[in-house]
Amino acid sequence: MREYLKFYIDGQWVDPVEAKTSNVINPATEEVSGRISMASLADVEKAVAAARKAFAGWSQTTREQRLELLLAIQAEYAKRQNEIGEAITEEMGAPNALGCGFHIGLGGGHIATAIEALKTFPFEELRGQTMIRREPIGVCAMITPWNWPMNQVAVKVLPALATGCTMVLKPPQLAPYSAQIFAEVLDKAGVPKGVFNMLQGSGAVVGAALSAHPQVDLVSITGSEAVGVEIARAAAPTVKRVCQELGGKSAFIVLDDADMAKNVAGATGGMMINSGQTCSAGSRLLVPKKRMAEAIAAAKEAAAAVTVGDPKGNFAMGPVVSKNQFNEVQRYIEIGIKEGAELIAGGPGRPDGIGKGYFCKPTVFANVDNKMVIAREEVFGPVLVIIGYDDIDDAIAIANDSDFGLAGYVNGIDGEQCNAVAKRMRTGWISINGGFDFNAPFGGMKRSGNGREWGEFGFHEYVEIKAMLGYAPAPQA
Ligand code: NAD
Repeated sequence: MREYLKFYIDGQWVDPVEAKTSNVINPATEEVSGRISMASLADVEKAVAAARKAFAGWSQTTREQRLELLLAIQAEYAKRQNEIGEAITEEMGAPNALGCGFHIGLGGGHIATAIEALKTFPFEELRGQTMIRREPIGVCAMITPWNWPMNQVAVKVLPALATGCTMVLKPPQLAPYSAQIFAEVLDKAGVPKGVFNMLQGSGAVVGAALSAHPQVDLVSITGSEAVGVEIARAAAPTVKRVCQELGGKSAFIVLDDADMAKNVAGATGGMMINSGQTCSAGSRLLVPKKRMAEAIAAAKEAAAAVTVGDPKGNFAMGPVVSKNQFNEVQRYIEIGIKEGAELIAGGPGRPDGIGKGYFCKPTVFANVDNKMVIAREEVFGPVLVIIGYDDIDDAIAIANDSDFGLAGYVNGIDGEQCNAVAKRMRTGWISINGGFDFNAPFGGMKRSGNGREWGEFGFHEYVEIKAMLGYAPAPQA
């Protein structure tokens, strides 16, 4: 049993003002795995006050001082990363190889790119007699989801620290453990008091209070569209900046010249990673209509090959995060069946032989119409829909016919054709033939949000731009 009953405020682990706790459920066993304290409004006041007080000093530190802290964080993170990976397995059910692999790798990758970006970030730029300064925006509230918990915390905290901001982090109630260990990493690395603060608790109390707080200058939310909207509403009266990283229903286009079987198998396996709980998942697979039969055969085989079971064992897929999430996934599978989509793999209920835990079947629907609910709404589970297209124009029209615009995938042999298709997709992040880059900006268009995180682009969210006109040039030697 894990007990994380203290908050990190003003450089210390402190008791909550009011003693209130919440159980954390292990999604693989449905049993209580630990307990966290739930912050109250009084705790929010303490954390924001600490961050506000620390801003005066931290905002004036030099690039070198902040670099020193980031390097210390990197060293501490390396020591604790396996522990973080195990915590991720326990809190949200990622298979151990994924938790201690890609999950912690993403966290480490963001630390490394923030270090590199900080070395050269243009905090000051002289244009003629005008000095353009990029100054830290102030106190930042960071509200994160449970699906890639270390990724989302690292991608906010590191650029905020690097640019001289102070912050209050509120991790997800369902998956609070990895963030707690990350806070211990920051403490050990010597983050100055008040610069980083962390409260555990609910979105409705802590998240809402941070979003509305007059002493908070920026809210960065990664989460669902509905919560992104709530936060923007709450933040509006204080005119704070709101960075939204929201949901997606991303298209994965396989072009006609591609090896269909190989690409469809890859896309199907990719969809099931993290039990399909990935904002940027290629959840709409677009294949030429004339090759649908080939795609169905490949997707069936690939879905059947995805082993499901105990995340501590040697399985490809664990459970989804919670009972609610399990019920949501089941609801969408039933909707897909009712809508007349062709169920070619998986379906309702748990996989055979599993009687407990929030395990779903790797599910694939084929011959889906893009107007169907399962093609329009984010399921956030291991459910792939395959949609046929007539020609490239049709593929692009289908891909863009979505309220979301987070990610996209284009696979084909002819690189120039892939590029041309990618250019016409209304989405913020597109991977061509598996391309991946920690330094590329990550974020969405349309209802997927307005933020851009990762690498140097993430820094821009945390700075205000100041123009100093008539700037006195440095004296000539
Ligand atoms: P969620 O929106 O339910 O919760 C996200 C966070 O918001 C949690 O910390 C929650 O406590 C908090 N919250 C809830 N209500 C709030 C309120 N009224 N005010 C302030 N904060 C509140 O999302 P989730 O279920 O944790 O995560 C899944 C969603 O996140 C999916 O839609 C997914 O696509 C999205 N997501 C997006 C990205 C991205 O980078 N674009 C990355 C990962 C996940």
